[in-house]
Amino acid sequence: MANTAGIEHKFVVMKISDVEQLTHHEKVALGHIGEAIQEIRIKQGKSPVNQYLVINTDEPYADEVIDILKHHGHWGMVETCAWCGEDREELRNPHIFDYDRNGGKMCRYCWDHDREVYKGSYGEDIGPFDPKGETAQ
Ligand SMILES: [Zn+2]
Repeated sequence: MANTAGIEHKFVVMKISDVEQLTHHEKVALGHIGEAIQEIRIKQGKSPVNQYLVINTDEPYADEVIDILKHHGHWGMVETCAWCGEDREELRNPHIFDYDRNGGKMCRYCWDHDREVYKGSYGEDIGPFDPKGETAQ
């Protein structure tokens, strides 16, 4: 979903004290939207409601939280890993042993998992995850 500046955002967060100021009809409409989203999530096999931690970017510790999110691949532009289906900030082309997945890219976690598997079963080391890895190794 893009905001008015055309920037893509992953979440919409509403402050309850703001929602409480809506009219009765607006609250009912918002309730219907929430129910429709829950139904979609259930059909997709997801939990109907997630709980998130939310901080204001004005907080003095926001940069520390952003660093933690970056460390875990949850900050910035995200792409979906073709292996695990998770949205990740860092993806790279897959390694030569697992190359063809419709041109999809692989995340650090899947790479590290595969690295251990191939070390154990073939004795081959595909090397550490390199987010700039453009070609298969
Ligand atoms: Zn993955």
